[in-house]
Amino acid sequence: MTQPDQATGTRQILLTPGPLTTTSRVREAMNRDVSTWDTDYNDVVQDIRRQLVDLVGQADRDSAVLVQGSGTFGIEAALGTFVPRSGSVLVIDNGAYGRRMLTIAERIGLTAVSAHFPETAPADASSVTNLLNANPDITHVAAVHCETTSGMLNPLEELGEAISDRGVTFLVDAMSSLGGIPLSLDSLHADIVVSSANKCIQGVPGFAFVVARRRALEASEGQAPSLALDLHDQWQVMESQYGKWRFTSPTHTVLAFAEALAELHDEGGVSARHHRYCTNQALLVEGMESLGFVALLPREHQSPIITTFHNPSPPFDFDTFYQALKHRGFVIYPGKVTDADTFRIGNIGDIHPADIRRLLAAIEQVGRDAGFLPSHNARAQP
Ligand SMILES: *Cc1c(COP(=O)(O)O)cnc(C)c1O
Repeated sequence: MTQPDQATGTRQILLTPGPLTTTSRVREAMNRDVSTWDTDYNDVVQDIRRQLVDLVGQADRDSAVLVQGSGTFGIEAALGTFVPRSGSVLVIDNGAYGRRMLTIAERIGLTAVSAHFPETAPADASSVTNLLNANPDITHVAAVHCETTSGMLNPLEELGEAISDRGVTFLVDAMSSLGGIPLSLDSLHADIVVSSANKCIQGVPGFAFVVARRRALEASEGQAPSLALDLHDQWQVMESQYGKWRFTSPTHTVLAFAEALAELHDEGGVSARHHRYCTNQALLVEGMESLGFVALLPREHQSPIITTFHNPSPPFDFDTFYQALKHRGFVIYPGKVTDADTFRIGNIGDIHPADIRRLLAAIEQVGRDAGFLPSHNARAQP
């Protein structure tokens, strides 16, 4: 059971893009103090690294490196480590996380070019190849798989294939898809994928991770402008000193993550989890649409991770809606797209169809009480 709401004692679930609702099994795995010098702990780290490579890569070709911090630390570490000073990175921008990669690239002094698309349009492979033709100096392409801003699932398999013979390195922010949507370095034609502990693997926050081709890791020595975010050095220490982190590692988060990986396996792996998320998301949209809410994205671009809905007309008020749902045990998320007034509901984490049904009943009740949904009687009338 998750923490009850302090005021009402109701169990609260997070319907957010992370941190997520985790199981007590995962949280209980943290209830232990371990030393970073202990080989039992280093075994756990090495096992996690191996499992991540098995999940999305190939053991003889790829390797995994973990880095302290949230997902953004992993993205900043990856851009700084893999893109050389002399290089230039094309960043796909159709949401806040793409824009954040541009900001990071600029902040750390890289040459960055934006491939801009509207937030409601997927990244289009032919526009990207045109940009590559026009900018032959580009060495790296960076893209977000699931743009959590809107819920858009960018078709990176197609994009990766379209750019695969151009000699550019392809870096994917798979933060909110890895573990919840089947993907691999091969399926995306990617060289590097980045994700974090508290998204679809369903662990708790505390570190980010990168699975990359060894070739790319080896070639990145000495490139990072940051000491703490140097993935090459972090990788070298993990490789040569058997799972050691350079600086204090988030031991409790690591223990929880190892349990989360075991739990993912018990659920039936990524395809079973993907199926559960798809079921959750389909139930959510169907139920919300039948209440009169309108989703931002057309179904063909919608990920099974998080859904953006337009705000209904007044008397709807997001803060009041949020508080009323929270009081009933459901924590939703504000909108993040720039051109529309929206809110978001995530369906990843330890969330099941029964939770979505309870949520929909709560939304209907709250909407009627607040007067932005028609009452039962009004709806029953022809
Ligand atoms: C969550 C997320 C991130 C990282 O965000 P943090 O708050 O730093 O963990 C990056 N990209 C995407 C697509 C995300 O969903």
